[in-house]
Amino acid sequence: MENSKKKIIVTGSNRGIGYAIVDRLLREKFSVIMVDYDGEVINTAKNLNKIYNNVDGIQCDVSDFNACNDAFKDINKNEIYGIVNNAGINRDALFKNMEYNQWDAVIKTDLYSVFNVTKIFVNGMIENNCGRIVNISSASWNGNIGQANYAAAKAGVIGFTKTLAKELGKYNIKANAIIPGFIKTPMTDQLPDKIREKFIDRIPLKRIGLPEDVANATAFLLDEKSDYINGDLIEVGGGLVL
Ligand code: NDP
Repeated sequence: MENSKKKIIVTGSNRGIGYAIVDRLLREKFSVIMVDYDGEVINTAKNLNKIYNNVDGIQCDVSDFNACNDAFKDINKNEIYGIVNNAGINRDALFKNMEYNQWDAVIKTDLYSVFNVTKIFVNGMIENNCGRIVNISSASWNGNIGQANYAAAKAGVIGFTKTLAKELGKYNIKANAIIPGFIKTPMTDQLPDKIREKFIDRIPLKRIGLPEDVANATAFLLDEKSDYINGDLIEVGGGLVL
């Protein structure tokens, strides 16, 4: 099947890694549905459409299952070839100081969203007997000080991915996860310089990653070249291990 007939949903794609993924997929001639909490995504998609003509934008809070059902109700479920579950937030605090709402917001946005969006489209993929699911986890899944909420969600994403790989492989659906290290986006731009420098010092390549680095790995996992890769993790972190 040619890429233009493969429609990919990318969540959290109005900026940062998600936007870079969309940009890369459009260059590869995939059709794309951009989804973001930020309503500006509709204009972003319109602008990209002037160049590519195969992109839609949908405003949706993917942490909310009912909102997802509503926002995606007009999409033909058999049209979806791939899902990139990228939307995520962090609300860092040492666990002794972590408030319930910091835990709740991160688990809902970074883990429930992956269930919500995948659940809505998986039966269409099963009917089609093909599909790709790429989940964006994080190097923090391994445990990181100040990120009990985020690490729990991102570790959950890995368990979810590996389980789907086992359950859905027989339907020719591949599920894999990407583990970005420290990537330059609005999410990490908010960190104090001191923390950024500390991170860079721990990266063997001694530089921060770019959203395009994650986009390249994502495009590979949606490409036919990765046809035999299922239930695997690709680290994009310049060698960073937390
Ligand atoms: P950004 O904060 O730059 O972008 C995230 C995007 O997701 C924003 O457009 C945001 O919208 C959107 N979003 C947030 N919550 C929701 C929601 N509930 N529903 C729909 N959209 C939502 O993040 P990054 O690009 O840095 O991160 C992308 C993914 O990569 C995340 O899952 C993150 O955890 C992961 N990651 C990032 C790393 C990094 O170093 N940057 C490292 C490891 C993993 P809005 O602007 O309205 O908030």
